Amino acid sequence: MGARVSDLLGGLAPSATLAVDARAKALKAAGEPVIGYGAGEPDFPTPVHIVEAAAKACYDPVNFKYTPTAGLAELREAIVAKSMRDSGLLISADQVLVTNGGKHAVATAFMSVLDPGDEVLIPAPYWTTYPEAVYLAGGKAVPVMTSEANGFRVTVDELERARTKKSKLLVFVSPSNPSGAVVRPDDVAAIGRWAAEHDIWVLCDEIYEHLVYGDLRHVSLPVVAPELGDRWIVVNGVAKTYAMTGWRVGWMISAPDVMNAAVNYQSQTTSNISNISQRAAVAALTGDLFAVEEMREAFDRRRKIMSSMLNAIDGVRCVVPDGAFYCFPDVRGLLGRSLGGVVSMSSSELAEVLLEKINIAVVPGEAFGTPGFFRLSYALGDDDLIDGLERLGAFVAAG
Ligand code: PMP
Repeated sequence: MGARVSDLLGGLAPSATLAVDARAKALKAAGEPVIGYGAGEPDFPTPVHIVEAAAKACYDPVNFKYTPTAGLAELREAIVAKSMRDSGLLISADQVLVTNGGKHAVATAFMSVLDPGDEVLIPAPYWTTYPEAVYLAGGKAVPVMTSEANGFRVTVDELERARTKKSKLLVFVSPSNPSGAVVRPDDVAAIGRWAAEHDIWVLCDEIYEHLVYGDLRHVSLPVVAPELGDRWIVVNGVAKTYAMTGWRVGWMISAPDVMNAAVNYQSQTTSNISNISQRAAVAALTGDLFAVEEMREAFDRRRKIMSSMLNAIDGVRCVVPDGAFYCFPDVRGLLGRSLGGVVSMSSSELAEVLLEKINIAVVPGEAFGTPGFFRLSYALGDDDLIDGLERLGAFVAAG
């Protein structure tokens, strides 16, 4: 008798970030005073005008039926307008595929351009989904370690060292999850030119484009590196900008031949994304950016609080993140030490200990290809944020 589960899915790792979040939520539901730093989602509600658009859509019979696989015409047009407004990226609606969240856009992008054995350069620390989605598409993920001293911003030199004849695609994400690194505009352009020179495609994940702090700004790689021609794919979504993680709307933008393949694939897997969510996304994208501005101010305050509280703990070192909503501290100074009567030898062991002993949930760096670190989201209320870090500080100080 053959195996019950396919080799392909048998070899797929579960999402560590979703697992930590699920565990923390379950403990909390069971009455434990858990503070969860695991979630990759804003703690704000979806703005009311977006919710109202969805509620209205529920009563309109046109939304009861199948609609075009690639997405509602109004939403694809709204994505065209938004791409110009936010990034100066000139595209047409037939270059847009609406997907079930940014994650689905990432997976569809890999499915659309990878052949077996194609190598995909993925700067590490990386979002835990990239290598697994590459694996599902038959490609080979090649992590490219970035330097903590450079704030985890990937450089052309690091990429060049990892390049081989089989390098087909680079995953470029700035601001980055989990490090919060924001690559500077000139360096984004240089990376794009390097990719163009070596005929390497670039998948640009722009999901955190509006969550950049201080004087920095996000630039879209295809805009600042026109040399790339049409060998790029942009993925994005409403999840982080409009506090809409549960609505599941993202999109992918690329050249017409890639889009044909991607739409064809989606037509055989999901068909159209929920019309109600698409109508909500139209309201989000055609509205203003007021809600994200409010969130950005809160996140900016919290990133400073979190990084300074982490840096005050003996054995923890934290680069101040420039974007997204995560701190990515180096916790190697806590390993091999007795804390709460337990000696942890890895960041994943220590994360377990912290959940058990002081009820705080963090995602260990192992999930991002960088053991020895933790990812802590600062998308939670100020009081909880401070309370949990005080617990951690006291735990470490007590030894
Ligand atoms: N890209 C990155 C880098 C992310 O962190 C996330 C969410 N964690 C996504 C894409 C996908 O977001 P969603 O599927 O919720 O739109």
